[in-house]
Amino acid sequence: SRLTPASTTQSICGFCSTGCSLNIHRDASGQAINLSPDPAYPVNLGMACPKGWEALTPLAATDRLTTPLLRNKITGLLEPVSWPVALAAFVENFKRIQQTHGPHALSFLSTGQIVMEEMALLGALAKFGMGMLHVDSNTRQCMATSHVAYKQSFGFDAPPFSYADFEESDALIFIGANPCIAHPIMWQRVMMNKRKPEIIVIDPRRTETAVAATLHVPLLPKSDLTLLYGFAHLLIQRGAVQRDFIDAHTSNYPAFASFLAAFTPERVSTETGLPVETLHRVVEIIATKERVSFWWTMGVNQGHESTRTAQAIINLALMTGNIGRPGTGANSITGQCNAMGSRLFGNASSLLGGYDFANDAHRTHVAAILGIDAQKIPSEKSWAYDQIIDGIDSGAIKGLWVIATNTAHSWINQKRFPELRRKLEFMVVQDMYATTETAQMADLVLPAAGWGEKEGVFINSERRLGVSRKVSRAPGEALSDFAIFQLVAEAWGCGDMFRQWSSPEAAFRILRELTRGQPCNITGIEGYDHIQHSGGIQWPYPADSSSQLPALGSKLGSHRRLFTDGHFYTADQRAVFHFDEPRPMPEPPDKAYPFLLNTGRGSSAQWHTGSRTNKSDVLVKLAPTSLYVEINPADAARLGIANNDDVLVSSRRGDAEAFAVVTSTVQPGQLFMPMHFDAVNRLTFPSFDPHSRQPSYKACAVRLARS
Ligand code: SF4
Repeated sequence: SRLTPASTTQSICGFCSTGCSLNIHRDASGQAINLSPDPAYPVNLGMACPKGWEALTPLAATDRLTTPLLRNKITGLLEPVSWPVALAAFVENFKRIQQTHGPHALSFLSTGQIVMEEMALLGALAKFGMGMLHVDSNTRQCMATSHVAYKQSFGFDAPPFSYADFEESDALIFIGANPCIAHPIMWQRVMMNKRKPEIIVIDPRRTETAVAATLHVPLLPKSDLTLLYGFAHLLIQRGAVQRDFIDAHTSNYPAFASFLAAFTPERVSTETGLPVETLHRVVEIIATKERVSFWWTMGVNQGHESTRTAQAIINLALMTGNIGRPGTGANSITGQCNAMGSRLFGNASSLLGGYDFANDAHRTHVAAILGIDAQKIPSEKSWAYDQIIDGIDSGAIKGLWVIATNTAHSWINQKRFPELRRKLEFMVVQDMYATTETAQMADLVLPAAGWGEKEGVFINSERRLGVSRKVSRAPGEALSDFAIFQLVAEAWGCGDMFRQWSSPEAAFRILRELTRGQPCNITGIEGYDHIQHSGGIQWPYPADSSSQLPALGSKLGSHRRLFTDGHFYTADQRAVFHFDEPRPMPEPPDKAYPFLLNTGRGSSAQWHTGSRTNKSDVLVKLAPTSLYVEINPADAARLGIANNDDVLVSSRRGDAEAFAVVTSTVQPGQLFMPMHFDAVNRLTFPSFDPHSRQPSYKACAVRLARS
């Protein structure tokens, strides 16, 4: 019967960075029929959020793309074509663009949703085989800040924690993070903490997590950097810093300490809107609890000074010695299922394996492992996502390849995208569906297999590698992204460069070799089965077992945390204190646009632009089906707006229709809208952190009226 599985395959969920393990039950022909969360996996312990339970549904959506589509120049419509015709159009148009405008006139925008072998093959093919220079991924929208902050502070992009730390902390401080709905299984791990922890949530909005916390700190939007410096100032005043640790394991502390003198409680109170007593209360907890852990996500990462804000969190952990011990750490929670893989193997900002493009020795080393000419590896830095978008505007980029992301919906200030699209001579979209806002604008759409229809490795937030398995056949002529990249390499004429990338697992072996000697060394991993049978493996896992981090066993499975010996990845093994004066918000509210708009995740049942989650009736029922805006009751009364009223939210860039949700989750003068509906990014203001170039989705000025 369809309900009696013939076999079960363990696989890793392909939505968020928690990296839950799912048991996929299959019929006699090998097709997945249903799933259940894996009770034996050390990440999720038998739990899954609604998206995980519904992970198979988007594969069976009726609008799955089953053949390539090419836009007919006469009718203007996308029409089915064969793979040979599609590949010929890809090569002919992109080569013509390169011949006319130069090799760097081509670019790709990729994703943190595909397996690391695919993102590595794409990055290698595009940069070493096709001669592209400017490429980026949607991880720029979520994790670029953490990447840069860790790299500068620790010497490598190295989130230090393990999920066991959720259970082993005496105080957990969440800054700009709402794990109750954004990372529900991580939140369940917090709920398993038996140490009666203090849970502090620093967020302008009274989120689900803030409601569940022992203390909510409702600071003014984008005053987080000032607040964190204020905490550091008070910790020094109390003498609650770990001088031994600072002296032995860090650098630049004296300059940081004298910089902090200006962040008096009175100044910080004025600039954050918080009572001085609240500052002291938080500092008392940090100073007196033995194990304090700091956790951040998009509220920090998506800001105009996000890198320094993330580093202000790192500084607090360093100065109080809350790192390398159980239940501590300055811990960035990642967004997408494989954002961590993209950070190591995307080949955009960093050279494959976490190396530097600008470093001659690194290029030579990587070229030798890949068996290619080192001259093929560019020494110049890639533009970031926003610079690629600007490059389209200026005419520098004429051809764009978009892989498994929905730029026309998700990019900040997206109203600009249709106009930019007209400036492109050829745009290719590679996706499971031709119905996304971006695919609808493409010249060529390539049908891609989805999660569950191919295999490869994801790396989750705690640096754990897990294998995502093939449990279902892709429909029609859809192919894995890996197979599409192989076909493109052959059609482009550079297939010989990638002969050793013969399968995802062969690619894994190449990537494994690239990590030898790097902090993310995984040369001790034998292959996919080894990862699977180990319950996932956290990096580092070097071949020399004597230099492997000890696996700290617990009833929850093995876990490894970094920096237990106080040695960091900088040249002198010391972590570095980084800081800068806070800067004003780029677009503060004013008379014409008096509200400040915050955007974010609206529900645990929705995922980003909804291209997959909207395919599930269950998930659609669990979440609002149209765009809403949260407004404080005082503002609603003043404007004569009642619950469920239709309203128009406008910024200097565009308008969005929504319905009003009158609620005290937002403070007076502030609004919140979920990111899952495309109109939101007509409003957002395009400002960027100068170090990570991550966009600031969390603050723009808008006005509101009944419609
Ligand atoms: Fe999947 Fe994340 Fe939900 Fe786990 S928490 S089931 S990884 S979406």
